[in-house]
Amino acid sequence: MTNTPNEKIEKLQSKVNGKIVRPGDPNYDEVRKIWNAMIDRRPAVIVQCAEADDIPHAIWFARENGLDLSIRGAGHNIAGNAVCEGGVMIDLSTMTNVDVDAAKRCAYVEPGATLADFDEAVQKHGLATPVGINSTTGISGLTLGGGFGWLTRKYGMTIDNLASADVITADGNKIRASEHENAELFWAIRGGGGNFGVVTRYEFKLHPVGPEILAGLLVFPFEQAKQVLTQYREFVESAPEELSVWVVLRQAPPLPFLPEDVHGKEVVVLAIFYAGDVAQGKNLIEPLRRFGDPHGEHIGAQPYTEWQKAFDPLLTPGARNYWKSHNFTELSDGALNAMIEFAGKLPSPQCEIFVGLIAGAANRIPADAMAYAHRDAKFVLNVHGRWDEGADDERCIAWARAFFEASAPYASAGAYVNFMTEDESDRVAAAYGANYARLVQIKQQYDPENIFHLNQNIKPVP
Ligand SMILES: Cc1cc2nc3c(=O)[nH]c(=O)nc-3n(C[C@H](O)[C@H](O)[C@H](O)COP(=O)(O)OP(=O)(O)OC[C@H]3O[C@@H](n4cnc5c(N)ncnc54)[C@H](O)[C@@H]3O)c2cc1C
Repeated sequence: MTNTPNEKIEKLQSKVNGKIVRPGDPNYDEVRKIWNAMIDRRPAVIVQCAEADDIPHAIWFARENGLDLSIRGAGHNIAGNAVCEGGVMIDLSTMTNVDVDAAKRCAYVEPGATLADFDEAVQKHGLATPVGINSTTGISGLTLGGGFGWLTRKYGMTIDNLASADVITADGNKIRASEHENAELFWAIRGGGGNFGVVTRYEFKLHPVGPEILAGLLVFPFEQAKQVLTQYREFVESAPEELSVWVVLRQAPPLPFLPEDVHGKEVVVLAIFYAGDVAQGKNLIEPLRRFGDPHGEHIGAQPYTEWQKAFDPLLTPGARNYWKSHNFTELSDGALNAMIEFAGKLPSPQCEIFVGLIAGAANRIPADAMAYAHRDAKFVLNVHGRWDEGADDERCIAWARAFFEASAPYASAGAYVNFMTEDESDRVAAAYGANYARLVQIKQQYDPENIFHLNQNIKPVP
């Protein structure tokens, strides 16, 4: 397809307001690059959309020329399905506008917006909704797979706060999906990923948050991992939903509040976020310090938007990444032991084991209320395999897979699609559990030819 006739490309360019980028163009490599450096694919045509009306032209161009079609939001997804080899990539990353109606507590968001774009716009009004913890992540992929972050305990998954979405379907039609319009499609896109169409605008419900919140890190020696984790498990059982505490097991980065001799050593990190009154939060987190003898801490009142960027330096683009993930309804001794064993043999300084706490509002929604099915999940475990050199691929991937196997017996069923790698297509049905059959039916209705297949694919025929 690199030899697509120029006339066809020129005709496409004449129809769209955005830019067409092709192999050989000076910005081609920059535009096709995504967050995970393991993904190196070369689309034949990239349509950098300027507006929603560009999208049907890109879809029809792919269809008429028999080309694969991929959709890129902010390009963060680990599986890399945003970029296709030799096909058409719809690039939404320049459509980043966020409009806020503060009186209605609603935000209208374009599909290329990052979490930073979103948080900055809504926080101007002291508002927010649950999104992820790394500000360069895209609102699109995050939302369509489910979405969770520091506010999830209190306000649910990102999709629990989605009021409507504008969608362009496989035949180029523009429709709105909400509880009242195209309700089946609305059910499907809340967790079903990019399987059903291209979303061009999201409408989110917002909540008063911050602008100042209490947050920070408490770092313990790795030798105290078992005592810290067992006390953590007990503490979060009764912690209020405004308080979220996540666990990270990794080598200590050179953080200024840690003694130098701790840098590069394995540590247990409690990442703390409190969405209520700061003084109250300080009292609530006091017991955490007594879980062991901390190496150090950095906790204080800060703007919500700053905390939303706190993990960005550890999650910069350009590294090689291979992740594996499980859901847990509880952290059993077996799960904790597996975490400690594998954190004791990290294959690279950037690899880490991450446990996100999501128990709360998300658990009160019925499992069949929308495509995302894991309403029993209280913890999401993510093994971040991350390193720089191709020569380390095999070793680091093997570590992530071995930990995934070792922790599997203690996990609940299902998987979070947003953390699945490209080699996990066999987990897609399990990821949706009892909701899968309904998703297949909706896929048959909206995309019977599986035009949108570069994703964690729900095939139109069972
Ligand atoms: C460093 C890092 C931190 C993360 N932290 C969190 C977290 O805290 N919480 C959480 O829930 N998730 C988290 N994630 C996972 C994240 O939600 C997914 O990677 C998500 O897919 C990223 O969205 P994106 O738009 O940037 O991705 P992209 O790679 O651009 O898109 C991913 C897929 O979504 C589909 N898609 C994108 N845009 C559209 C659209 N407009 N219409 C239809 N389909 C579309 C396509 O199928 C595409 O392949 C994290 C990921 C990374 C890499």
